[in-house]
Amino acid sequence: MASISDPIALSEQDKERYHRQMMIAGWGESGQERLKAARVFVAGAGGLGSPASMYLAVAGVGHIRLCDSDSPELSNLNRQILHNDARIGVNKAESGKMTLDELNPSIEVEAVSSRIEVENVGELVGDSHLIVDCMDNFPTRYILNECAIRRGIPFVHASVWGLEGKLSFIHSPETPCLRCIFPSAPPPEVFPVLGATPGMIGCLQAMEAVKYLAGVGENLKNRLLVWSGEDMEFAVYPVTKRPDCPACGGRGDG
Ligand SMILES: [Zn+2]
Repeated sequence: MASISDPIALSEQDKERYHRQMMIAGWGESGQERLKAARVFVAGAGGLGSPASMYLAVAGVGHIRLCDSDSPELSNLNRQILHNDARIGVNKAESGKMTLDELNPSIEVEAVSSRIEVENVGELVGDSHLIVDCMDNFPTRYILNECAIRRGIPFVHASVWGLEGKLSFIHSPETPCLRCIFPSAPPPEVFPVLGATPGMIGCLQAMEAVKYLAGVGENLKNRLLVWSGEDMEFAVYPVTKRPDCPACGGRGDG
């Protein structure tokens, strides 16, 4: 955990709030202090961003920057549990912040209503220690992927379709980057999805992020997890760098 250099001491309230997770082997006060000092960029406050940011918030990630330029629509509410009927028309980052503030008022949540572009991604990600990819399109994912490569920070990728989800912990140059794994973007479409699918996969994103930040367990590096809700099976496939990758150029020797 080189990136989070100055853990922040826990308050007595923190020790009570996070007691049960601090009991996990290898976690303790030091892991929780690292989480408290962590800054996470959550890209997208939709189906994946909802559970991912909620579990980051309740775990005590000290600073969450939630970024989304859209507003909730009625057809989002089967899965985007940060929002509700009363928030239709409110910016999703703002709506998400309201929910996260209620879940854990002891952390700092920042709502950013910008659209992520090549020109502003560096400013938006700022000094975050990790990016959680909760986007619904690959062009924006590629922009975030390249930012993560430049910064040398992890990029927790996930995607969902119907009853299926995919996940990988990307940390270039130790691992392949997103473009190594998915060289080209699938065509944009309105795809089917059940709320429990991003519910499942978004929770796993939060778990990967929290493990990394707290310094506990092993991350899903150099592997792509594919979960099928239809037959309730997990499969894990090895993934490798592409020497001709236009994003990372297959840099590094991991
Ligand atoms: Zn690559």
